[in-house]
Amino acid sequence: MKIIATTAYLLLISLIGFNVQGQETPNVIVIMADDLGYADVSFNGSIEIPTPNIDRIANNGVLFTSGYTTYCVCGPSRAGFITGRYQQRFGFERNPLYRVNDPYMGLPHDEMTIAESVSQIGYKSGIIGKWHLGAHISNHPLNRGFDEFYGHLGGGHRYFPNELTIPNSYDANNEDQSYRTWIMRNHSHEQTDEYITDEFSTEAVDFVSRHKDNPFFLFLSYNAPHAPMQAKAEDLALFPDLVDESNHKRKTYAAMVNAVDRGVGKVLDKLQELNIEDNTIVFFLSDNGGPESKNASDNGILRGGKSDVYEGGYRVPFAMQWKNRITPGVYDNPVSSLDIFATLSALSGSPTNAEKPLDGVNLIPYLSEEEEGKPHETIYVRKFDQDRHAVRHGDFKILYHKDNTNKKLYNLSTNISEEDSENLYWNATYLTKRNQLDSLKAEWEKDLKHPRFLGLLHDELVWATNITLSETNVEINPNQTKQLYATILPEDAFSNVIEWNSNNSAVASVDETGLIQAHTEGFALVTSRVVDRQQVYKRCIVKVGNPATATGIVLSDNNINVLTGEKAQLSATVSSDDNSLYAVEWSTNNPSVATVNENGFVLTHKKGFAVITAIVIDSEQVSAVCNINVNDYKATTNLFDINVPDVDDINIYPNPVTNGSLTINFNTTVKSARAEIYNAAGQKEKRVTIEKTDQFDLDISTLKSGIYFLRINVENKVITQKVIVNHLQ
Ligand code: CA
Repeated sequence: MKIIATTAYLLLISLIGFNVQGQETPNVIVIMADDLGYADVSFNGSIEIPTPNIDRIANNGVLFTSGYTTYCVCGPSRAGFITGRYQQRFGFERNPLYRVNDPYMGLPHDEMTIAESVSQIGYKSGIIGKWHLGAHISNHPLNRGFDEFYGHLGGGHRYFPNELTIPNSYDANNEDQSYRTWIMRNHSHEQTDEYITDEFSTEAVDFVSRHKDNPFFLFLSYNAPHAPMQAKAEDLALFPDLVDESNHKRKTYAAMVNAVDRGVGKVLDKLQELNIEDNTIVFFLSDNGGPESKNASDNGILRGGKSDVYEGGYRVPFAMQWKNRITPGVYDNPVSSLDIFATLSALSGSPTNAEKPLDGVNLIPYLSEEEEGKPHETIYVRKFDQDRHAVRHGDFKILYHKDNTNKKLYNLSTNISEEDSENLYWNATYLTKRNQLDSLKAEWEKDLKHPRFLGLLHDELVWATNITLSETNVEINPNQTKQLYATILPEDAFSNVIEWNSNNSAVASVDETGLIQAHTEGFALVTSRVVDRQQVYKRCIVKVGNPATATGIVLSDNNINVLTGEKAQLSATVSSDDNSLYAVEWSTNNPSVATVNENGFVLTHKKGFAVITAIVIDSEQVSAVCNINVNDYKATTNLFDINVPDVDDINIYPNPVTNGSLTINFNTTVKSARAEIYNAAGQKEKRVTIEKTDQFDLDISTLKSGIYFLRINVENKVITQKVIVNHLQ
């Protein structure tokens, strides 16, 4: 018996997967819908729109009745989920504009994504669908830890292939154009031929199949059912009792949700078929509540919807499964989208940034009841621009709208709809509760930052273009102070918030008002920067005491080869005849290729060559350079070992083809390609996706004899060839 038990144990280990540290390495799939209403899944009671496949997740695992996202619109909510941190901590508090030339319009480069974490312990990470965390190439998913990307960079997309008319995503200049780009496959642009919800589902199934033997993290980020309201006829036909009105397209909405549900079913079926369900955690959630008046979603009994800090704004359909590990059930304590990163990191031991701790928690011990208590005693949200704040603590929720003038205290256990007739804020019985929630709010908000960029709501406003400083050279002695003043231009610019920074705070630090405090002899560079527009800033050289002249400088790197959008951190070591502390001034000779900030952080923008120079302040003859060679993704065949074959190089044989298979040979290794076979009536009969190979076979045994069209999509090329199938009798 003992032997059998050991064998069973070993079998369990091999099925579940552990890493070398002995920690579990489950696959994780996060399926996120976009703007889906709380009441629009049948596990939350929807009758009009059945979601049998999404329900499978809740039935197989845990249905969370109080599942929250960290914000009530798309971009910030996704920033919170993907970093596992409240995004207000790093100023991602607006929906980013689609700006391919602005590296600061998106996820800050010093925040770690879940993909950047798990890739360090061998996970393969993919995102399929909507990104919306920055359209500059430095924020492209492949530059944020993901190994694979198939989707669109912006906040939404049109659904039918004939409306996707802009091949290159970097040619789109505004939101409307961003909805019309081709789909990106990694760094290439690919023409699609299906309704994109179905494209994304097919791709997700393919991802799971290809990585079944790895630990993997897949973010299946449907843009549905976000507007524009567009559905397939076959899905519309399933809802004969629903009608579309000009401003309330419930029927189309239902059809769009159905397409998502169909895709979820395909992914779950594939996990079953590959026998990896026990080793795969699947989460399902929406990124925010339904905007009922825009996409005809329904948040049910919850008050408000998308963009509100009422429950309808950020309490979402939320479920997870981990077959044979988590006992199925309903869980009512609050959980958060923040918990996904924390759960995976805790299970697998993937690294996180100690200076930027996660706000989420590992849910597994709570769900298995090893841990008593609640994952979150408190759930927070703040909307900076609208001056809205909400804190839920236990069953109580405090809510402020605009300048603290509109104050509410609700008991959600008896008032889930946040009815103002039961506003307890001014009820003396609840004074202690109110004060407790007030202080929780104040404590949380003191660590938050101003929004770092203007957003969708500010496109028409006046942006800052320049800053003037009261002084640009300051000489002071240790322990003295000096006040700097900054003025943002033009005067009617929307943002009036300045961020101050010193690149050598051991010599001189600066506070949030521009007050410089000198400490010890040396130099520092103090910068004044417009929050919202990080490119707009001014420098002031601060000389403290009488430091000796510097004699030498060594950089951490003198030659850097990177791909477009990748980043680098440079540092300088300065030598001198005394113990003064020196600062350097960084500059670039080619800002269109690479820029550098005052701390030596290098961002690259496009293919080319740039020289970064570090000059020791006040010792101009002491300098050093670093050559930055930025390679284009497509040109770097040696880095990826990938080639784009000439059309003439592709051999398809035999043709005519009899029983068996058709061979497609590229004469070189290609990174990825897709082959599709259409019959003479134009109906697709087969589709195969391959990667990193020079040849593959397409099984034609199931096709009837006749004429077919083979379409091969490789990199950005499409090759179509007639194929005759002639089965021998
Ligand atoms: Ca959304």
